[in-house]
Amino acid sequence: MPHPALRSSTCRLTAANRSFSTSPRALHDVSKLSVVGAGQMGLGIALVAARTAKVPVTLIDTNPSSLEKALKFANHLLEKDVAKSRLSSEEAQQILARMATSTTDLSAASESDFIIEAVPEIPALKKDIFARLAELAPKNATLATNTSSISITSIAAAARGASDRVVATHFMNPVPVQKGVEIISGLQTSPETLNRAVEFVKAMGKIPSVSRDAPGFLANRILMPYINEAVVCLETGVGERDDIDSIMKNGTNVPMGPLQLADFIGLDTCLAIMKVLYEDTSDSKYRPAVLLKKYVDAGWLGKKTGRGFYDYTK
Ligand code: NAD
Repeated sequence: MPHPALRSSTCRLTAANRSFSTSPRALHDVSKLSVVGAGQMGLGIALVAARTAKVPVTLIDTNPSSLEKALKFANHLLEKDVAKSRLSSEEAQQILARMATSTTDLSAASESDFIIEAVPEIPALKKDIFARLAELAPKNATLATNTSSISITSIAAAARGASDRVVATHFMNPVPVQKGVEIISGLQTSPETLNRAVEFVKAMGKIPSVSRDAPGFLANRILMPYINEAVVCLETGVGERDDIDSIMKNGTNVPMGPLQLADFIGLDTCLAIMKVLYEDTSDSKYRPAVLLKKYVDAGWLGKKTGRGFYDYTK
């Protein structure tokens, strides 16, 4: 039986999906967004929010060089779009003017009515941030996490007194390109919170999919065992690398084969998610491939290290 929050929000989501319009501002009631963590995900989320949902955004990061890098990258992306006439330079300036940065701890989020956390995937770090946000954020603020694998229910429990306002908005990488966003409710999440997250993500031009808090949520629950099985096929000699990728690419119409995709995601990330699925469900069907662990042990993490199932140094 679905959680009541999910049930009602799923209904609203269907109706809202049908009414998706070209007027994003009308769809949300967020007056100020804060994004905690200005890494690759945080920057992408902030930029899309400032550009498409047209909200003022404060990017908060404890590391000043992350903020500097993020703004530089935002500039670069906008300049590219101006050069390709997808954006006027005036619009690009307006988008940048909506983006502020802060290194002053979380207090910069105290005036935001929607906050998205995108710090590294460390449970204790995220829980600490949510405990503090519960104290300092306005009482109407939605507290969202971009976690890939940590239980939303456990993060919400850390936000004492505000657990019903905690939800996950799981954006995909790269945020400006990928349309799908998972919206995940913890046990405590209220229907209002879930619905508000859905509306805001839609205002950012994204397509939300709602799911319940469960290991891997939807995207990784489905994707990672598929990738893992491809590694098992390689490990057990069912097929060679190129044949495995070729049949999936050319036979099922996916843009790249599972082994190449694993390289792009990062083999350490794939292994970490398989471990979460395996440990949290105690189900042997999620056992990480031995070869996947070996590659990670060797430091062959995929594209980012120059070697994974493919060689990127040539
Ligand atoms: P990242 O390492 O690129 O960025 C994290 C940023 O958080 C860094 O700039 C760091 O300085 C900052 N930070 C660390 N502690 C902080 C604190 N206490 N307060 C403020 N800022 C702090 O990480 P990322 O790849 O952007 O991932 C962020 C989150 O998004 C993670 O939970 C990750 O699992 C999730 N996610 C990542 C991807 C991906 O492909 N990278 C995809 C979906 C979801």
